[in-house]
Amino acid sequence: MVMVIFGRPWLPDPVIHARTPVGQACAQCAEPIGPDDRGRYASALRFERGALVEVTAPVHMECDIRCAVGGAPHLFNGGTTPWRGTYRQEALRVVAALNEVRQRSQAEPL
Ligand SMILES: [Zn+2]
Repeated sequence: MVMVIFGRPWLPDPVIHARTPVGQACAQCAEPIGPDDRGRYASALRFERGALVEVTAPVHMECDIRCAVGGAPHLFNGGTTPWRGTYRQEALRVVAALNEVRQRSQAEPL
């Protein structure tokens, strides 16, 4: 399977690099994709005329990673305190924390 990404490359090859879908809603957070955002196209399900339809939709890189690794409460405090921000804010916080760990191991930031 070849991944279709947008923005500054963030996945190793093989990928197809597509134009950034500026203004389209992220399938995870529903916020619009910005001109400097990175991400990928993912399969998503939507209701259209009463039926579930599979579509391909853009997802921010951070929202995609947050979906894969779990949310901030799960990662940082044992799930005892619910996250009070938006999904997008939480995704940015999760990736920032991962980058702190990567920096300590001298790895490039995501
Ligand atoms: Zn998003």
